Amino acid sequence: MISSEESLDDARELQLFNWHCANIEYSTATDIHNLSARNWALDDENAFDGDHCLLKTGYCALAEHLAQGLDIRLNSKVKLVEHGKDGAQAACKVTLEDGQTLSSDVVVLTVPLGVLKKNDITFYPQLPRWKQAAIDKLGFGVLNKVVLAFDKIFWQRATPKGKYIGYASERKGQFYLFIDITDCTSKPTLLALISGSMATELEVTPDE
Ligand SMILES: Cc1cc2nc3c(=O)[nH]c(=O)nc-3n(C[C@H](O)[C@H](O)[C@H](O)COP(=O)(O)OP(=O)(O)OC[C@H]3O[C@@H](n4cnc5c(N)ncnc54)[C@H](O)[C@@H]3O)c2cc1C
Repeated sequence: MISSEESLDDARELQLFNWHCANIEYSTATDIHNLSARNWALDDENAFDGDHCLLKTGYCALAEHLAQGLDIRLNSKVKLVEHGKDGAQAACKVTLEDGQTLSSDVVVLTVPLGVLKKNDITFYPQLPRWKQAAIDKLGFGVLNKVVLAFDKIFWQRATPKGKYIGYASERKGQFYLFIDITDCTSKPTLLALISGSMATELEVTPDE
């Protein structure tokens, strides 16, 4: 049983240990020492069943399909959400940056957590304390992907079901997993994953 990194003397053993840490850091977008040992995988039971899939035309295809027939307004930044008012009029009012207002029975808000943390949107009345506490306490992090396209395949093709090529890198999280997406792109392509603090480091590394 491995209890800590310090007990791993063998460099290769440490790299393998770090590979598994990187794999957890990939799904949680933070370094492993920030995670709760008991609750880090809490989302697993709520995940969709089935295999991982890659949409050949990108995720946009889903959004475009769902958007059919809907009144979608782009470049419409929400500044104020008034909610929970009773009476004959619509219960919610949304005010956009340009002053326009929209009325509705309900508001489903799906802005990123960072927008809520920055208080970019004002709520009236204020959000309940328990909800604000959740916004304040929840965190988010960085996961990086690098797409590498080649003229020809030089790696051993994985089986049709398993397109993953693990790599026990010297530094934890650095290109720790490659996914062969050649079948989706129709040209030799690997998708490299970078997790944990390596992902954050890569954010400020120039593309060159
Ligand atoms: C590198 C990387 C790789 C990923 N890979 C995968 C993957 O392979 N598979 C997968 O399933 N998921 C993946 N994800 C996660 C996935 O991209 C996100 O979970 C998903 O995009 C979140 O969608 P969302 O609608 O909640 O938020 P977002 O896509 O962030 O949408 C929020 C929207 O709110 C808008 N907004 C913000 N502020 C306001 C405002 N004041 N008024 C109005 N609108 C506002 C923004 O413009 C944005 O359009 C990846 C994420 C990253 C970073």
